[in-house]
Amino acid sequence: MSGIDDLPPLRQVIATHDLSARKALGQNFLLDLNLTAKIARLAGDLSHADVLEVGPGPGGLTRGLLAEGARRVVAVEKDPRCLPVLAEIAAAYPGKLKVLNADALDLDWEAELQAPRKIVANLPYNVGTELLIRWLTPATWPPPWESMTLMFQREVAERIVAAPGSKTYGRLAILSQWRAEARIAMTLPPEAFTPPPKVHSAVVHFTALPAPRFEADARVLTRVVAAAFGQRRKMLRAALKGLTPDIEDRLIAAGLKPTDRAEQVPLEGFCALARVMTDVIAPAR
Ligand code: SAM
Repeated sequence: MSGIDDLPPLRQVIATHDLSARKALGQNFLLDLNLTAKIARLAGDLSHADVLEVGPGPGGLTRGLLAEGARRVVAVEKDPRCLPVLAEIAAAYPGKLKVLNADALDLDWEAELQAPRKIVANLPYNVGTELLIRWLTPATWPPPWESMTLMFQREVAERIVAAPGSKTYGRLAILSQWRAEARIAMTLPPEAFTPPPKVHSAVVHFTALPAPRFEADARVLTRVVAAAFGQRRKMLRAALKGLTPDIEDRLIAAGLKPTDRAEQVPLEGFCALARVMTDVIAPAR
């Protein structure tokens, strides 16, 4: 027994099922169930929500979520070696856990969960940013999720919450902060994981705002921000000149200085720029 439930301790689970961690799958496991329960609590009240977990692995965080009273957990795991262990957890929580053996990048996850939905995951580092960008840029807003509680490498977490003027401010900060509240809720040293990664990690908690902070078309904002930060050392007029020849006039119309660099421009400025660029990037048909 492990303390939070009647299942065996994770070290024993890993040894019995021979779950040696695979680097290619970004496997750095959390084996301390008190810690996984604490991460689950960062997601707030789970009793009213269906939770998507990407990459349950041997199930430490899954057990945390279930022990904390999640209404239902849908866990998507690419590594088939983890399935027998996850089936044991499902048996201990009848009707509460559905395990899908799939690649999270290919899954129509929304259809698998009833609203309200939360996403909680210790993400594999190799697909973490890609998944985050997708969750942040659904076709419509509010998104299908109410909150996301996600473990990243600390360097990625810092990019998500970065403020203008800092070296880490860029696309991730803008897409994260435009329509959500994002904060670092916990940092963890490498030793918290088995095997320990090379870097620190951090849990970021996102809450979806009902509407964007500033009006903009998502596709246009994404394009403008990608172009601006693609050449972040250049002045905006140079970095964005490929988008339209009259970029200087448009920057001025948006209230920006053509000589500014992308990292000096606050979220509001990028949204203003997206609004005056709509006819160039996403013209009405
Ligand atoms: N949740 C577990 C924990 O906290 O101990 C494991 C976290 S580990 C960082 C990432 C997990 O994601 C691994 O179990 C790995 O097999 C799985 N994984 C990697 N790529 C995946 C993908 N594309 N889709 C679904 N799961 C994936």
